[in-house]
Amino acid sequence: CGITGYIGVGESASILASGLKNLEYRGYDSAGVALVGDQVNVHKQEGTIDGLTIPNETDATHGIGHTRWSTHGEPTDENAHPHTDCSGDIAVVHNGIISNYNELKRQLGGHIFESETDTEVIPHLLEEEIAAGADLRAAVTRVLDRLEGSFALAATHVDYEGIVAARQDSPLVIGHGDDGMYLGSDVTAFVEYTRKVSYLEDGDVTHLHADDITVFNDGERVEREVQTVDWDA
Ligand code: GLU
Repeated sequence: CGITGYIGVGESASILASGLKNLEYRGYDSAGVALVGDQVNVHKQEGTIDGLTIPNETDATHGIGHTRWSTHGEPTDENAHPHTDCSGDIAVVHNGIISNYNELKRQLGGHIFESETDTEVIPHLLEEEIAAGADLRAAVTRVLDRLEGSFALAATHVDYEGIVAARQDSPLVIGHGDDGMYLGSDVTAFVEYTRKVSYLEDGDVTHLHADDITVFNDGERVEREVQTVDWDA
């Protein structure tokens, strides 16, 4: 029910933890993060954010976080996000529903699934694209073409120094900080760190790097205005 992301020189673990805490008001049944440095480390479980231990992995340069309001699969540790591919190099958080996930799962014969969620097809689809030579940006764009439903998602790959995020009928906001780039389902996720925001539109795919973002829609590069929020968090 909420997505956070951060890439930059700050402490990813604590920034993601506070982002999840700030999104608590949206309601959730499970929470988790993936921290990316030399490897991808996932910490996730059913229950409250206060019950989730996120070690401060100082080599993590970026990460993604999630609060889950389950639609497909019970609230369990396995069904909590982030979800990974078979290798564990790809991590994905997702809000909303992938309505054709059963069909996609059938197309992914040979992949081993660990959860009952609709979400888990996404890292496995990305894995196939990356195995075929795509980088994470290209892989997300291709996989989006195959997903039906309403969603927002964010993905990381161990060999890609960035976060790729996309939205289709679910909100997603970028925060432009002095120490890095922030991602959230809404501004409350990161407003204590930056008030400079840009709102993504339906069909946008964005690439976040530590000091810049790019946004594409329908294959074309687009600009999303950077606005300043002036309300108190
Ligand atoms: N459909 C996904 C699930 O059940 C995401 C739910 C959400 O938006 O939190 O895991």
